[in-house]
Amino acid sequence: MENYNDIQKRILALKEEKGALILAHYYVPLDVQDIADIVGDSFEMAKRAKEAKEKLIVICGVRFMGESAKLLSPDKKVLIPAVDAGCPMADMVTPEDVRRLKAVHPDAAVMCYVNSSAAVKAECDICCTSSSALRIAKALDAEEIIFVPDIHLAEYTASKLPEKKFIFHTGFCPTHHRVTEADILAAKKAHPDAKVAVHPECRAEVTKLADFIGSTSEIIRFARETDAQEVLIGTEMEITARLQRELPDKRFYSVTSAFVCPNMKKVTLQAVLNCLENEEYEITIDKDEADAARHSLDKMVAC
Ligand code: SF4
Repeated sequence: MENYNDIQKRILALKEEKGALILAHYYVPLDVQDIADIVGDSFEMAKRAKEAKEKLIVICGVRFMGESAKLLSPDKKVLIPAVDAGCPMADMVTPEDVRRLKAVHPDAAVMCYVNSSAAVKAECDICCTSSSALRIAKALDAEEIIFVPDIHLAEYTASKLPEKKFIFHTGFCPTHHRVTEADILAAKKAHPDAKVAVHPECRAEVTKLADFIGSTSEIIRFARETDAQEVLIGTEMEITARLQRELPDKRFYSVTSAFVCPNMKKVTLQAVLNCLENEEYEITIDKDEADAARHSLDKMVAC
């Protein structure tokens, strides 16, 4: 415990006392990641929540991550530290949008990115993450696939599966969408020897300039394994900081200083401490909605 600051020590003591499991996403501040039992991307968090033996789970991330944990572990108490930490991309698609698309394309399978609400998941056949989208789309029997909400991940997946017809939604992640071709070109000019690793939530004009395209966990793996000594990171800035700390002999640069998810930054150490002390904010989901949503997440985890 000697390397932890006071607030981290209080969190760890409370975690022990209450028998809680703390799962953190890679985009929350590093000092929060440091007190977590597991740090991972959305898929790893969901999988770990499903396997959890603990009765109390703290999800250090945005609301849909808390909902996914609750759906997969319905008998557990699931808390999120920041009640207003939402995901603007998840808010861009509604259950009505999905119903409308299904009415126009009745033979299509409906895939939804895990970055969506429980109400939207309830309307879909299967969920996916950025690392599993291609594998899941390929495995689906249907030739037509409705993909919500992220248009960039959908377009990237569709580009790898020309034999399937994709029906897109218009959602996007503001943090990744705001990065442009000009940002990549400027970053490459500043660091000409660097390899470029980007997330498929980025625009096509950005991914086409990358040396590597992958989910957050895949980008981390690429950064560890590449022979390149410099890597430009095309996803949320906390990844750049985490990699630089882990691999001090290499150099990591964010493609732009705009790569920040403001909602993930609401999950501060103080918020985690309050969360454990007061056992708030608890995720609750209407039972019918949860029953309808669970199958699409279960299928994702099993796939
Ligand atoms: S980075 Fe984008 S997709 Fe992830 S939580 Fe933030 S807004 Fe949502």
